[in-house]
Formats: sequence, structure tokens, C-alpha cells
Amino acid sequence: IVIRKAEYVASAVKYEQYPTGGLPEIAMAGRSNVGKSSLINRFLGRRNLARTGNTPGKTQTLNFYRVNDAWFLVDLPGYGYAKVAKTVNAQWGSMMENYFKKRETLRAVIQIVDIRHAPSREDVEMHQWLRMRQVPTMVVATKADKISRGQWLKHLTIIAKALEIDDASLILPFSAQTGAGVEELNESLSEMGLV
Ligand code: GDP
Repeated sequence: IVIRKAEYVASAVKYEQYPTGGLPEIAMAGRSNVGKSSLINRFLGRRNLARTGNTPGKTQTLNFYRVNDAWFLVDLPGYGYAKVAKTVNAQWGSMMENYFKKRETLRAVIQIVDIRHAPSREDVEMHQWLRMRQVPTMVVATKADKISRGQWLKHLTIIAKALEIDDASLILPFSAQTGAGVEELNESLSEMGLV
């Protein structure tokens, strides 16, 4: 995929607000502050398309970006921020449930975790939830620049085990800082038929 064009299209809470047009779609999920916005910006080669350093707990939306006029990338609201009120958490749950239930153009989810840490309970729950719904999911372990390359496999193995992924090499190490993993992610999306 050569990113020729990447543009913000819409923010949505309800299904009626999702962009129409039937383009295939990839969704990005992860804990608040995991580095999801940074990954999106790095992958799309746009410095400030997705907003980084968002205040966790503020109004959460699904943010849609259109790439090469050919597919949508969706930034799903971050999960697992402890200070978020219960009501916000309930809204988050129904927003996500609706999205996965109704978005027929969804091709795959990229679940983003922090390479330094064992997956949180929310990471594990999210992963199981996607598996239960048979949503094709790829796990990307970001902030890989924060540990040495020699330590990557050890960390990926811990993540794989917690998420019950048979082969740690299926998890892609990534760094928004250095660009490690950008090409591999690009290739994976290519293989899904995105252009
Ligand atoms: P989001 O809430 O998941 O969208 O997370 P952000 O993209 O806003 O990133 C949260 C913080 O982590 C910011 O301070 C980023 O600069 C930092 N960050 C994100 N990705 C990386 C990375 O790959 N390497 C390093 N060193 N820092 C990162």
C-alpha cells in the first residue's frame, strides 16, 4: 500500500453517524494511552491526523479516516482507563457492541498492546471478545523502541501466552518513534486486499 491520501472523515457514536459507501474497513483497538493515535499517524505518514495525548475519559467517539479513497481506518475509543465513570464505561460497551454487530464492511481489527507489559485484564477480555465474535484480529505490540531488540521475543512470548496466541511471531513489534514494523503492518493490510 502506498499511502497517497489519508483524510479524516467523521466521528461517530451511533450507527447512523458512520460514513456510508461500503468501503472495506480496518479498526484499531487498544487501551487509552497505549499509543494508538501515534501508530495511526506513523502508519499513514501524517503527523497530526489522529489526535495524540487525548485526555482519557473525555467524550469518546469512533473516528473514521479514509485512505486512498479505497478503505476506512477506524480509531476505536480506548478502553481500560480506570478513572472513567461507570456510565461512560457502559456507553463505551454499547458503542463497541453496536459497531461490531452492525459494521458489515469490517475486515479486521488491529489490537494494539504495549510491548513492555503483560496484557491487562481489559486487553485479554477484548481479545477474547473479538475471538468469540470471530473477528479476524492482528495484535501489534507498540513502543518497541522502549526495549532493546534482543528483548522483543521474550516480551512477545509473554503477550502471546496471555492472549492464547499459539505463535509469538504472529504479534508484530512496532514503534511510532522509529518506524519499526510499519512495513510489516503495511504488508499485512495489503494481504487483506487493501490498496
Ligand atoms: P493513544 O491514547 O493510544 O492514542 O496514545 P498516544 O498515541 O496519544 O500515545 C500516548 C503516549 O505514548 C504519547 O506520549 C506518545 O508520545 C507515546 N508513544 C506512542 N507511541 C510510542 C512509541 O512507539 N514509542 C514511544 N517511545 N512512545 C510512544
